[in-house]
This record gives sequence, structure tokens and C-alpha cells, in this order.
Amino acid sequence: MTLLLYSPRFLDHDAPYMAETPDRLRHTWALLQQQGLPPGCRPGAPRPATRQQVARAHDGRMIDRLHAVCRGGGGVIDPAPTVVSAQSYDVALLAAGAAIQAVECALGGEPAFALLRPPGHHATPQRAMGFCLFNNAAVAARQALADGQAERILLIDFDLHHGNGTQDSFYADPAVLFVSLHQYPIYPGTGRAEETGAGAGTGYNVNIPLPAGAGDVAFQRTIDEVIAPLARRYRPDLILCSCGYDAHWAENAVAGAGLQVSVAGYYRFAQGLRRLAQECCRGRIAGVLEGGYHLDALAWGVLNTLAAFGDQPAIGDPLGAVLNGETDVDHVLARVKRLHGLA
Ligand SMILES: [Zn+2]
Repeated sequence: MTLLLYSPRFLDHDAPYMAETPDRLRHTWALLQQQGLPPGCRPGAPRPATRQQVARAHDGRMIDRLHAVCRGGGGVIDPAPTVVSAQSYDVALLAAGAAIQAVECALGGEPAFALLRPPGHHATPQRAMGFCLFNNAAVAARQALADGQAERILLIDFDLHHGNGTQDSFYADPAVLFVSLHQYPIYPGTGRAEETGAGAGTGYNVNIPLPAGAGDVAFQRTIDEVIAPLARRYRPDLILCSCGYDAHWAENAVAGAGLQVSVAGYYRFAQGLRRLAQECCRGRIAGVLEGGYHLDALAWGVLNTLAAFGDQPAIGDPLGAVLNGETDVDHVLARVKRLHGLA
């Protein structure tokens, strides 16, 4: 079975001026209802994280400030822009709780996906930014490590944007091997290949900065040439995925973005991660939602990720493949492999 965690409460984080809207999940949930969940996929209701659980990954003053702004009716938390409503603090706790549950479920042997918002991967230990309040993946990873359920977590972020917050969370920590595929250079400006970790974490931060125009081939090559060899070397107890769908080609019109992954490409990528989890950690794989703003690309991407996590065939790709050729990524992969001893 595959557990799908979702709550309509995630729609209650509804603040003006943000592209990260409740419609993202409303639309995705509607498609899941209309198409039916993939075979073997069961829905579940998330429980909120406690303040103590969130505080494993975030500074207490940051949590208190977010709480105070929401209690006061909401407002701008960060100029990036990150805006909150009165409900946002509670919804953010529920999102972090969903991520924790997804990881617990995966560690118990059942793949899981948390269809949540607000997203998390830009939130650093000290700062909410880029639509992200709490770093859901970081909170969940910290919880699994604190519980002694895992000693090594491979955290893969395939959102279009660099997961700067997750990188900051584990930059000096070898207990999490962080791999981020992202377009570079765009928001938030970090994510160079040369950012490889610090102290005991040196070598455990792997950035794959892709040029505009990279797509399905680049994503597949990244698994084959970087992620799979890294996973075999690292021997993780769990693969945790920060799943963003804004690298889809249709986002070009929405966000001025520039990668060209297709829904079918997302399926193959998720399938590759699932197979790697079967090979390295008894199939323990969990995903948490990050970005994705083109509503159909997001919804079909999530549906196909669920299918891949559950070892089911692809569901279909009504948006189709991009017609342009893809930008070559030979030089990027060569640099990443050299920096991490994979060449
Ligand atoms: Zn993004």
C-alpha cells in the first residue's frame, strides 16, 4: 500500500499576493477524486506536529514570531514574499505533522506521500521565506533521527528551486545526505555545485545546478550517474523526497521558469527513486510536496508520483512532452561527479 496524507485544513492557509494558493491542492485533490487513487493507495488524515517537534529544526524565536503574527490576524513574514493569515500557524503545524507521519509510515515499510501546504524547503532554521513557513522535510528528518528510527537519511529535492532551507538545516550534518536538483541561477540564488557541506557534513551536500532547458533526460541521468552511486555508497535507512513540480515545461508560462520536465518524466524519476529505495533501504520512501504552480502539471505530477511510489504503471500524461530539444548537462554532471568522487 501507499499512504496519501491530505487534509482540507491545508486550504485554510490563504494569504493574498502569493502564487502558492489553496487552488494548488484543491485542483490536485479534485483530480485524484476524478481519476481515482492508484491501486494500493490509501488516504489518511494527518495530525499536527507539536511545537517541540518543529523546534528540532527551527529556532524558537522564529516559531514564536510566526505564532504572534498569525495570532494578530496575519501579515507579511518575509519580503520574498511570504504572507500568512490567522490560520497559517496551525496549518503549518499540520503540514509538518503530515511530513512526520509520512516518514514514520515509510520507516514502517509502507511508501507515503504528504500532499501538503505550505511547502517547506526554503525555510531555514531561522527564517520563513519563499512561501515556506516550517521546513516540513527537515522537521520530519530530525524527528526520525531523534527517535533513533534512522541513522542516515537520503533527502532528495527535485523542486525547480534550490532547497536552501534544507541545505542550511543539514549543512554540517552527515546524518542527512542532501541532494538538490534545481535550475541555477534563479531564486533563491544558492545551490552551486561547490556548496558541498561543512565540518563533519563535508561531502554530504550535493547540488546539481541545471541550466535552463534541461528536462527529462537530465533528470534521468541525474539518478543514474549521481543519485544511485551516492545512495549505494551512503546506504541510507530512508529516502525522503522534497517533491516540487515547477520544473515542468508548462511552468514556463506561469513562473517564467525554465526547465522542461514532463509528467512522464516525473513518473520515471519517481520510479527510479522507488527502485533505489528497494535496492538500498527495503523500499522505505516518503515524499512531501514542495512547489508546482501550473495546476494540471502539479496534479498529474502528484498522481504519477503516487503510482510510481506504489510500483504501479504510469497514469498518463495529458500535457505531453516538450517539443524543444533539451539543453545538454554533460558539463554540470561531470563537475558534480568530480566534486563528490563519482567520476
Ligand atoms: Zn519551487
